[in-house]
Amino acid sequence: MKLQESPHRIHVLSPATVNQIAAGEVVERHASVVKEIVENAIDAGARSIRIEITSASGAIGSIRVTDDGYGMSAADALLAFTPHATSKIATIEDLHTVRTLGFRGEALASIAAVAKVILVSKPRDSGAAAGIRIVIAGGAVQETAEVGAPEGTSVEVGDLFFNTPARKRFQKSLNTEITRIHAIMEGICLAHPGISFRLFHNKAEQLVTDHTSQALDTIARLYGSETANTLIPVESALPFMAISGYISRPSLSRKDTRRIFVAVNGRYVSSILVTNAAKEGYATLLPKDRFPVAFLDLEIDTALVDVNVHPTKKQVRLSREKEIAQAVRDAISTALMIHDLIPDVKKPARLPAQEPTLTGVQETTRSYDLTGPEPTGVSEPTHAGTALSDRRLRQTELVTGLLPVSPAIPPMEVIGQFGGIYILATTGSGELMLIDQHAAHERILYEQVTRRSGAEHRSQELIVPAILHRSPKDAAILRELMPALAEEGVVIEDFGSDAFVVRAIPVVLGKFEGNRIIDDLVSDLVTSEPARTVTDREKITRILACRGAIKAGTVCTQEQCQRIVNQLRFTKNPFTCPHGRPTMIRFSRADLDAMFKRT
Ligand code: ADP
Ligand code: MG
Repeated sequence: MKLQESPHRIHVLSPATVNQIAAGEVVERHASVVKEIVENAIDAGARSIRIEITSASGAIGSIRVTDDGYGMSAADALLAFTPHATSKIATIEDLHTVRTLGFRGEALASIAAVAKVILVSKPRDSGAAAGIRIVIAGGAVQETAEVGAPEGTSVEVGDLFFNTPARKRFQKSLNTEITRIHAIMEGICLAHPGISFRLFHNKAEQLVTDHTSQALDTIARLYGSETANTLIPVESALPFMAISGYISRPSLSRKDTRRIFVAVNGRYVSSILVTNAAKEGYATLLPKDRFPVAFLDLEIDTALVDVNVHPTKKQVRLSREKEIAQAVRDAISTALMIHDLIPDVKKPARLPAQEPTLTGVQETTRSYDLTGPEPTGVSEPTHAGTALSDRRLRQTELVTGLLPVSPAIPPMEVIGQFGGIYILATTGSGELMLIDQHAAHERILYEQVTRRSGAEHRSQELIVPAILHRSPKDAAILRELMPALAEEGVVIEDFGSDAFVVRAIPVVLGKFEGNRIIDDLVSDLVTSEPARTVTDREKITRILACRGAIKAGTVCTQEQCQRIVNQLRFTKNPFTCPHGRPTMIRFSRADLDAMFKRT
């Protein structure tokens, strides 16, 4: 019999590499078999995966997983059952960048050692007429044959622990085993909305998800669309990680953390760090002993994620834990705050037509804001720094004023400023708003910079070009960033010997007030970390917005505060600064009454 030849993509890891991989048992029960073979199917790039469980007289009989992944050649399929044979890593260094769920090369070998396995596989796009079928039991190959097969792989595991009776006795009731399989499948489905999964038990459908790009579809499939519809989206990006997902409103809470799902780079994990941070994001919105429902998808620079901690990889070790936890807390508290605000403005818009007055009020307010605000309160005397802020504020106003954005937050009237940092304002519905003036202005500038098209003026030439000297290391970084900087209006020329001439700066930075701002800008750029999730342009835009924004500690007149608030309303995302920090916090009358114990 001639087996189909194909390149050996699978190889056996060297003993040195094996020794550095977290060792231990991965096959403890049926649910672990399901996890391992389903993860192999995911790693094989499957778009749809079918899991069929059979049981008889109170015990699981067999587990079969069928995928439409890239499959295996005959030679590879045989090698796959050898201990430490894998196609996913070659050396231990590969673990720094590994994106596959598996890499130990142990699962198939350990499963085949304690069960009877039938594997059928045919490589994708190979043009081969036949696939291979391998039967292996207790670690010994019993049969190999060419068979007609679709592209992809199917692995059937039966008689689990037939040769280890002690283990077999240790298995829990059928119900418990099925519940465990269900729980594992939920986590896997949530971490892979792009794959369609179908789980059957004795031919009865247990769980189904469709291939989708929207995680919310998968959540709806698993927990019902009613639950899904009440969830709030979470979204946040930092240089080394991105968070996305959905969380419950405070009204939907649980007494345990079992509905906090965390995926790190597509791996469903249990992470106390992230779970705690999620809970902390709710701050006082949840009682101490209640936990939210959350589906969080963390994309973290693989260099910061150590997956080689535990043989089943249920846990991962994260570097920069503090920052990651902070990012999760911030993302959640911001999402809750945003969500809390939106209904206040949407309500009037959704009112039926028989209430024209309300709509009318909104319209007038909007056009008032678009044509530019008139000073409302009495202007305060000018303080140090005010002149500069004023120019910057007017500068941004020109642009934002033209943008036809329908505001997501209600009109606000400024009533004062606190500590040179916070603007106090009220809304028409009698809420008190605290606005961080720097964060708010940063958001305004950020959107202004990103929205402008190339044709527009964004640069101002310096009458006296500024000279910069940098260390050789910084100079090298700066040289690399020069093209991206030029696109954002920072025109720098290399003068040789690590000196640079700054010829023009972006308009958003305001009037050129000396080398300081350029120096700061360049320092920010060379010290900001190598961003993997953010482009150079994005990095520069954020720094420009931050440097251009009026500083915390700048005393502003009421009129200036009002301008910031008005401009903020017309940004696309008025709720956070470009780094994801909140721009405003809302206190309703009820919140305040509760704090003062007035009921
Ligand atoms: P690991 O997943 O850690 O590499 P396994 O023992 O689970 O180790 O699998 C061994 C190898 O067999 C994998 O590296 C992969 O190349 C191949 N393999 C296993 N299952 C599949 C599958 N469903 N489709 C394609 N290849 C597979
Ligand atoms: Mg595997």
